[in-house]
Amino acid sequence: MTLPPIKRVLLKLSGEVLMGNQEYGIDPEYVARLAEEVKAAKDSGIEVCLVIGGGNIFRGISAAAKGLDRTTGDYMGMLATVMNALAMQNALEQAGVQTRVQSAIPMASVCEPYIRRRAERHLEKGRIVIFAAGTGNPFFTTDTGAALRAAEMNCDALLKGTSVDGVYDSDPKHNPDAVRFDTITYDQVLADNLKVMDATAVALCRENNIPLVVFSIREKGNVAKVLSGEGTQTIVQK
Ligand code: UDP
Repeated sequence: MTLPPIKRVLLKLSGEVLMGNQEYGIDPEYVARLAEEVKAAKDSGIEVCLVIGGGNIFRGISAAAKGLDRTTGDYMGMLATVMNALAMQNALEQAGVQTRVQSAIPMASVCEPYIRRRAERHLEKGRIVIFAAGTGNPFFTTDTGAALRAAEMNCDALLKGTSVDGVYDSDPKHNPDAVRFDTITYDQVLADNLKVMDATAVALCRENNIPLVVFSIREKGNVAKVLSGEGTQTIVQK
C-alpha cells in the first residue's frame, strides 16, 4: 500500500510534542523546530491544514478522574489547543509562512471562527490554516477534530505526527519485542483496539476513505520524508 498523490494534507500534532524536552507546556524553541517541518511540507507544493492537540497543557478526562466536571474539563482542554495553535502560528510566521487560526469555539479577538469556505480560500492563497479547539464539543478529541476537518476540507491524507514512528502490535515503550506495521487496515486497528487514534477518528477516516499516516515528528526532516514515501511510518488504509 502506498499513498495516493497528495495535493492537500491535514497534519495532526499531539500537544505533547510542543513540550520538547519539558514536562509540561510549550517550548518555543522546539515549536520553531516543528514549524520548519510544517513549512517543509508547504514548500513541497502541497496545501497544509494543521490541527494541534492540547495534552501538553490540559486533558479533560485526566482532570475528571480527579473530580473536575468532565464537560468543564473538556472545554478547558479545547482552550489549551487554542494556546498551542497561537504558539504554532507565531513560529510559522517567524519562519515566513502565512497562516490563519480558525477556532471551532468562536473567540473573535483572538482568531477567526471556523468557516470552511473561508479556510478553502486561505489554502488557495497559500496560507496554512490551523484548526483550533478540536470539534468544539466536549467528549471528543483533537484526533476526531482532525479527522473531521480532513473530511470537510477534502484532504488526501491525514498525517499524525507523534512521538512514536508508527503503529505497533503492542506498546513499544513497554515491550522491546513490539513489531511495527508498515501498513494496516482501519478494520484491524479497530478490531485490535490498537493505539493509533481514538476509534471515532479512525471510523471517520474509514468512512471517508482518508489514508492515515502515523509517524514520528521528533525525527528531523520526517514530514518531507513521509510525504515522499521514504519515511518510517505506518499507513492505515482500507
Ligand atoms: N477536547 C474536547 N473536544 C474536542 C477536542 C478536544 O473536549 O473536540 C478536549 C479534551 O478534554 C482533550 C483536550 O481537549 O483531552 C486536549 O485534546 P487531546 O487530548 O485530543 O490532545 P492531544 O492528545 O492530541 O495532545
